[in-house]
Amino acid sequence: MLKIGIGPSSSHTLGPWRAAERWISELKFDSSFNLVQKIQVHVYGSLSLTGKGHATDYAIMLGLSGADPVEIPVEDIPKIVANIQGTSQLNFGGERKILFNPKEDIVFNRKFLPFHANGLKFEATFEDGTKKSKKYYSIGGGFVVVEERKNAKKKIASFNTFPYPIHRGDELLAYCQKEQKTISEIVLENERSLRSNVEIDAQLNKVWSTMLECMYIGCHTEGRLPGGLNVRRRAFDMHKNLMITAGSYDAPENWLQTIRQTEVKFRQILKWVSCFALAVNEVNASLGRVVTAPTNGSAGVIPSVLMYYLVIENHDANFEHIKKFLLVAGEIGSIFKKGATISAAMGGCQAEIGVSAMAAGALTELLGGTPEQVLMAAEIAMEHHLGLTCDPIGGLVQIPCIERNSMGAIKAINAAELALDSNPEDAKVPLDKVVQTMWETAKDMNSKYKETSEGGLAVGVFLSDC
Ligand code: SF4
Repeated sequence: MLKIGIGPSSSHTLGPWRAAERWISELKFDSSFNLVQKIQVHVYGSLSLTGKGHATDYAIMLGLSGADPVEIPVEDIPKIVANIQGTSQLNFGGERKILFNPKEDIVFNRKFLPFHANGLKFEATFEDGTKKSKKYYSIGGGFVVVEERKNAKKKIASFNTFPYPIHRGDELLAYCQKEQKTISEIVLENERSLRSNVEIDAQLNKVWSTMLECMYIGCHTEGRLPGGLNVRRRAFDMHKNLMITAGSYDAPENWLQTIRQTEVKFRQILKWVSCFALAVNEVNASLGRVVTAPTNGSAGVIPSVLMYYLVIENHDANFEHIKKFLLVAGEIGSIFKKGATISAAMGGCQAEIGVSAMAAGALTELLGGTPEQVLMAAEIAMEHHLGLTCDPIGGLVQIPCIERNSMGAIKAINAAELALDSNPEDAKVPLDKVVQTMWETAKDMNSKYKETSEGGLAVGVFLSDC
C-alpha cells in the first residue's frame, strides 16, 4: 500500500512506469527482448484524458529506459526525457538503443477499455516484421494488473500463508478480539509470515525517511510549480513563518527536533499540519519522490498526520510508534482497496483523499484507542468524504489536489478525536458499510468526475485565468 515512487500520480505515473518495466521483463522471459526493433504505446480512457498533466508520457519513457522509480535520482528525470525527445531514441531496458519518437509512439486514445478506466497497450515490432502486444491496467496506488490475472493464483497462495487473512474490517476486529492484540500487532504477524523482522523494519524505515525527506524538501523549496498553472508553492512561506523563533538545523532528523521546540497553539497546529501536507504534494506535483498513501495525489495526508503526532502530540515518540502507525494505515488502506477502490478513475477523489482515512485509524491507535475505535475513526473520516469528485484543473495534480491533502489531514485528526471520545458500540455505521457505500457511490458517479478533467473545477476554471 505504501510504495516509494515519483510524482505526480500513482495511477497515471507510477502504474504506467511499472507496466513498462513489467512488459520488458516479459519480453526478456520469452527471449524476444533483443529482437525488438520498434515500440508503440497506446494509453486509454482516464490515462489518456489526464495523462499529459499527470506525466504518463514521461513515466512510459522512463519505464522503457529501465529506470527504477525508487532509486532514480530525481534530477536525472528531465535529462533522460529531454534526451529521448531530442534524439527520438531510447535506451530500451537500459541496455540497447532503439528508435522511439514520443510524439508518434505514445498514442493517447480517448476511448475507454472495458476492463478498467486506466488501460495501456504496449506493442513491439520485431526484426522480421511480426508484432506482439500486451495490455495492462493501472488500478490505483501504483498497482498494475492484466485482464487474465495470471498472478492471481500466486497472490492467493501468499495471502493464505497469513496467520490472519483480512478482507474486511469485521474480520480484522474479530482477530483483535480473539487474540487480545492491537491492529498493528495483527498486521505485524501477517508481515512476519512473508519477511524477517529486520526486513520489515528496514522497509518501514525507508518509507518513513522518504516521507520525512519529502516534507523537508517541500518546506524548503520556493517558487512555482511546473505544468502551466503557475501555482505558487506555499509550504515554503508557511514553514518560514512557523519557524521564525526556532533554532537551527541542517537535516530532516534535527529539523524534526527543532519543530518540537516551537510553541504551538490551535492555529499553529492547523498551520503545521497543513504545511506538511502542502509540502508533500508540492513535491509530488513537481515530479519529486513521494510515498503512495494510498496514492500519489493523496500522499500528503499520512506523513502530515504522523508528523503531527511526532512533533506535537508525543515528543518522546520513536521508530516503534512510526512502525505501528504505518502498519495500521496500510491495513486500513488495503481494506478499502479490496472492498472498493483506490483509483480516482474508478471512484473519484473519495478513493484517494477519502481513503487517506487510513491516517485517522492509525493516529487513533497511537493515541491509545481500542481496535474498535481505530476502525470507527477510519469510518468517520471516510464518511465525510463520500461522493468527493476528482476534477483536477488542466489534468495536473495541483488544484484542488494539493490543498485537499491538508483538508484530509485535519479531518483525519478530528475523526481520531471523535472516535477516541465515543463508544464504538453506539456507532451506526461500521467501517465495512462505508467501504461498500463508497464503492456504490463510485459506480453511480458520472465519469466527468473520475480523473478525466471533463467536469467540475476542471471546466469551471479557465487555464487562461490561472
Ligand atoms: S482531485 Fe483528488 S483524486 Fe483527483 S487527482 Fe486530485 S487528489 Fe487525485
